[in-house]
Amino acid sequence: MAISKSFDFLRGVSGRVVDEIVALDWAATSLGSPDGWPVALRSQLATMLACPAPMYTVWGPDLVSFYNDAYRPILGYRADTAMGTPFKVLWGSIWDEIEPLVATALSGQVAKVTDMRLDLARTGQPEESYWTFSYSPVFDDRGDIVGMICVTGETTDRVLAERRQRASDERLELALSSGAHVGLWDWDVLNDSIRSDARFAAMYGVDPAAAENGVPIEEFFKGIHPDDQERVNGEIQVAMAQVAAGGAPHRFVSEYRLVQADGTVHWVSAQGRCIPDETGRCVRFPGVSFDITERVRIEQQLRESEARARLNAERVQLALEAGAIIGTWFWDLPTDRFTVDEPFARNFGLDPALGHEGLSLAQVVETVHPDDQAGLAQAIEAVIASGGAYAHQYRVRRHDGCYHWLEANGRVEHAPDGTPLYFPGVLIDVGVRRALEAERDSAIAELRALTDQLEQRVADRTAELMRAEEALRQSQKMEAVGQLTGGLAHDFNNLLAGISGSLELMALRLSQGRAGEIDRYMDAAQGATRRAAALTHRLLAFSRRQTLAPRPTDIVALVAGMSDLIQRTVGPGITVETPAPDDWWTVLVDAPQLENALLNLCINARDAMPDGGRITIAIRNRPSGCRDDLHHDIPKGEYLVLSVTDTGTGMTPDVIEKAFDPFFTTKPLGQGTGLGLSMIYGFARQSDGQVRIASTVGQGTTVSLYLPRHDGPAEPEEPARAALPDGAGGSGETVLVVDDESTVRLMIADVLRDMGHRVIEAADSAAALPLLRSDRRIDLLITDVGLPGGMNGRQLAEAAREVRHELNVMFVTGYAESAVLNSGHLAPGMQLLTKPFTVDALVTGVQAALGHPRGQ
Ligand code: ADP
Ligand code: MG
Repeated sequence: MAISKSFDFLRGVSGRVVDEIVALDWAATSLGSPDGWPVALRSQLATMLACPAPMYTVWGPDLVSFYNDAYRPILGYRADTAMGTPFKVLWGSIWDEIEPLVATALSGQVAKVTDMRLDLARTGQPEESYWTFSYSPVFDDRGDIVGMICVTGETTDRVLAERRQRASDERLELALSSGAHVGLWDWDVLNDSIRSDARFAAMYGVDPAAAENGVPIEEFFKGIHPDDQERVNGEIQVAMAQVAAGGAPHRFVSEYRLVQADGTVHWVSAQGRCIPDETGRCVRFPGVSFDITERVRIEQQLRESEARARLNAERVQLALEAGAIIGTWFWDLPTDRFTVDEPFARNFGLDPALGHEGLSLAQVVETVHPDDQAGLAQAIEAVIASGGAYAHQYRVRRHDGCYHWLEANGRVEHAPDGTPLYFPGVLIDVGVRRALEAERDSAIAELRALTDQLEQRVADRTAELMRAEEALRQSQKMEAVGQLTGGLAHDFNNLLAGISGSLELMALRLSQGRAGEIDRYMDAAQGATRRAAALTHRLLAFSRRQTLAPRPTDIVALVAGMSDLIQRTVGPGITVETPAPDDWWTVLVDAPQLENALLNLCINARDAMPDGGRITIAIRNRPSGCRDDLHHDIPKGEYLVLSVTDTGTGMTPDVIEKAFDPFFTTKPLGQGTGLGLSMIYGFARQSDGQVRIASTVGQGTTVSLYLPRHDGPAEPEEPARAALPDGAGGSGETVLVVDDESTVRLMIADVLRDMGHRVIEAADSAAALPLLRSDRRIDLLITDVGLPGGMNGRQLAEAAREVRHELNVMFVTGYAESAVLNSGHLAPGMQLLTKPFTVDALVTGVQAALGHPRGQ
């Protein structure tokens, strides 16, 4: 830019501002064209523009503004219009503040300002800035004051820094002077000497004068709470070790309790820094300690309220709703400070203020019922040791002087290292609940008593019923027996009538000399006698004391012999099937009894099929170890199974269970006696066999007789004979017959003589025994079991066998005497003949006894 001659005075300077001056139309200002500017102004401007410090100059009555490059930024947005502008216009916004200074300068004095705060609003926004500047008068060529020059510098940064410093200084000072709360210390580790200010010394209970010169750390440690000393020492060691290990200078922070001279406890926080030498050894350890008692207290309160909130919320909520909360407590375990809330205090008649300050636990425990104190102490001890939830019920004396049940509900929190921290909780009034529970318990007890009574009554009633039932059974039995004996008496009467009638007729025919006509009366009398014998058999079987005469029997033949009778008994509406087995075993059984049993089973089957059906009488071998589906509970052994199956009504399990009971019947009175199956059962058991029922209601029934196999051939059934059997002749053996009934003795003796034997007769054992002990030949003893006088038949036989070891014996017995024999089990060489007997049976028995089977 070519500078006009008018600006020759600016030849030596350059810069943005120079350009601005040159470019400005000065003719439009009160200064006029530069050509007319006085020398003083010119040299003043040249000097200012060359100066690096921010400066400006104002000249003339308008105080037209000039400034240099260094000052330009201070103008901010004003810079574009500042050159040549009157000073008052330029700084209108702060004119009030600077005007006095301007006035001072224009009056010829220097106005100096340090760190003046001015809002220059350099960016257009208000701003806080600080300035140190001076206004000096400027003289014209004649020495008159025509303006002023300002040298300025911004000091904002310094001012703010200083202000911050001052603020912190002030705070520090304030803190330091606000009582014994902060103390400074500096530990010369190598010489173990802590120098501290008076406040620190006072906090730790050390003489301030001594502390100023330095005392060993040990002296300060004495002020620390005994429980904290070890921990603090450890923390110091750690800090030093970390520095020694090359760590950055370790900031040491330790919080602990100080016990004051008056016994009160204060919490302090000691914060410092280890300063190591080149080797890492800590040589200095300066720091501050300040009182944090208040903070700890607040923290504790915070923890308290947190812990309270954390209490078993649900339970407490319930208690709250029930209005049953008595109060809450907070027990800080490390400090053993036990505080309670206002309701708690009120409930126990304690001073609420005291409650807040903290009570001794003893004060609280004192209100607990003496019987509950030990238990409470145990529970507390246990939960503090274990941590976690706590609930305990006990009685407490409240302000009304009465004991109340309450439940303490709380929680012990442990620090991660297991140290118990605090133990807050609530007390809940459980009096009402306990009363309710007691009420419930007594109600339950009452109910139980009632139930017991009821049970007793039911038991009594049951026993009564059972007695009644038993009585009923008994009466039914009597009735049945009555029926039976009534029927039997009738039958016997008829039979006897037949027999005596026949005898009378025989006597009549004999007297008429018509001996040839007596045979049919004889037959009639014998038939009646057989029927009477059969009746007696039934009675004997029913009495179950019957002595059986088992014989190897062919059951297929037996069934075949019965089938006609069975068919006639069950009637034409029922088909009777008797499928013949391929192979069958012989069984040792009393054939007439078995026939009787079979007939009974078929009658039961018939009764179960009123509308007709089918009876199947099956026979099969059942080898040992065979487990058939239905009757696997049969004792081991080989059996021949005789089963009667019908297609009738079937039996319910209940009926099956009772069916073998004597007198159990489902049939109307007069139709059933309930003796059929019971007799069959007795017969089966006496035959060493079993009987089983399998039945399905609506489908039918199978009753199976399990009869033990007999190893050997069957003996053919002998037909009844009126005369002496062929080949019945004896070989002259001598038989001793003992019976008190002379007619029986006579009859037996006659038959024996007819058989060709010699017979000796005796009425009782007294007569028989000498004969048996004599030398007389006796090949067979036939004796009645029931003998009058000293010995019965069995005893006689035993006495006889003492002298005649091999003596054959045949007992003759009615059912009343059979018990004398060993339940029907006879020793070898002994036979049994049941009264009444046929001549045929007597002959066969004698032949068997003497070892002469018929036909041999
Ligand atoms: P009773 O035939 O005199 O009633 P039982 O001792 O022979 O006496 O039978 C007892 C009961 O067993 C019968 O009343 C009947 O209820 C039941 N019972 C026996 N056999 C059969 C059968 N084949 N089918 C259905 N029920 C039977
Ligand atoms: Mg029957």
